[in-house]
Amino acid sequence: PQPNPQVGAAVKAADRAHVFHSWSAQEMIDPLAVAGAEGSYFWDYDGNRYLDFTSGLVFTNIGYQHPKVVAAIQEQAATMTTFAPAFAVEARSEAARLIAERTPGDLDKIFFTNGGAEAVENATRMARLHTGRPKVLSAYRSYHGATSAAINLTGDPRRWPSDNGTAGVVHFWAPFLYRSPFYAENERQECERALQHLEDTIAFEGPQTIAAIILESVPGTAGIMIPPPGYLKGVREICDRHGIVFILDEVMAGFGRTGKWFAADHFDGGIVPDLLTFAKGVNSGYVPLGGVAISSAIAETFARRPYPGGLTYSGHPLACAAAVATINVMEEEGVVENAARVGTEIIAPALAELAERHPSVGEVRGLGMFWALELVKDKETREPLVPYNATGAANAPMAAFGAAAKKQGLWPFINMNRTHVVPPCNITDTEAKEGLAALDAALTVADEHTA
Ligand code: PLP
Repeated sequence: PQPNPQVGAAVKAADRAHVFHSWSAQEMIDPLAVAGAEGSYFWDYDGNRYLDFTSGLVFTNIGYQHPKVVAAIQEQAATMTTFAPAFAVEARSEAARLIAERTPGDLDKIFFTNGGAEAVENATRMARLHTGRPKVLSAYRSYHGATSAAINLTGDPRRWPSDNGTAGVVHFWAPFLYRSPFYAENERQECERALQHLEDTIAFEGPQTIAAIILESVPGTAGIMIPPPGYLKGVREICDRHGIVFILDEVMAGFGRTGKWFAADHFDGGIVPDLLTFAKGVNSGYVPLGGVAISSAIAETFARRPYPGGLTYSGHPLACAAAVATINVMEEEGVVENAARVGTEIIAPALAELAERHPSVGEVRGLGMFWALELVKDKETREPLVPYNATGAANAPMAAFGAAAKKQGLWPFINMNRTHVVPPCNITDTEAKEGLAALDAALTVADEHTA
């Protein structure tokens, strides 16, 4: 496409005048004006093109502008753009069927929302009504969304300004060997001690007061920490013993991101939660959609008692048509298998090699198209390259790393002292190698800030 800086300047000016951006001090940001996107790339109005190692906010699992999904949205718009949620609508019925066929175990009923946070809101509401209990346990180092219940469940600093202290949420530590809160030396100890800590938390909170435990199957924004073998199975067993609903949040990890349809399928022979939340990859974010997959026992609770929750746009036909097309494309084009293969054959060995060569890379971890690099000042002490929740000058080393990546034509995902490698799940081998080479170059800038 031809560069067009004048249009870019107008887009930017109207944005700066009128768009109020998420999570930002409005005068401290400088959003890039995006002219277009296709596949794994997007470009600006000045002729710069970027390989997107972020998949947007980890949602374009099939990349941008997939022609079959665009066509399905156009066709749905031409036939039935919208319809109220109380009716049976073809796109909605078909999306629910395709999703239920892929979710684990007996999670066969789908409640649709517009995104991840609403899915978490409704999952916790269902758990509280199903059990008649008030509290929900969630992990530190987690993100569950920015609405009231979801932000209170979140275990990172984004909760602090919105924490209402009365949300009935109790946080606990989930396993993370590299920065273990349990003084563990190996995955087995980490798992045992994390499960004991959860048992102790439940004992002191009172099991009869706890409706649910919510966990990301693989925590995403918080750092892509793969749960050690036995952990999720252990949590499942604890939930069963105490009559606690087990909610797995697959908003980021679901729909192929980890190289399986759901991350829960990887662990301990496959984990079946009672509720599973999804969004993002369900339709690659082409039209807002999320939802809760519901077990037969919880569905039964609401079989003859109304479920007290709903949304005007629940199961919006355009969003559902996009989900149907996305899931079909993922099957036809082997997108989930591609995520697994490129992850194992290309990304894993390349990142391991970067970790050996770059003093700033403390650890790499992940699976499929879901990887984190922990950037450190010192590999021995594991001191993060920037302090927790750093801003301004304190965050300069990560800002310098990000700028270096962009200079190389790579758009990086950055959270605190980490960069995540989370490209589209249908990335080609050549694109993955191109991004890894750019990452290599950018890491030399991070290296300059090591001890
Ligand atoms: N849960 C997880 C695991 C997420 O990663 C996110 C978003 O990043 C959410 C929930 C919230 O989703 P949304 O931003 O669509 O409300």
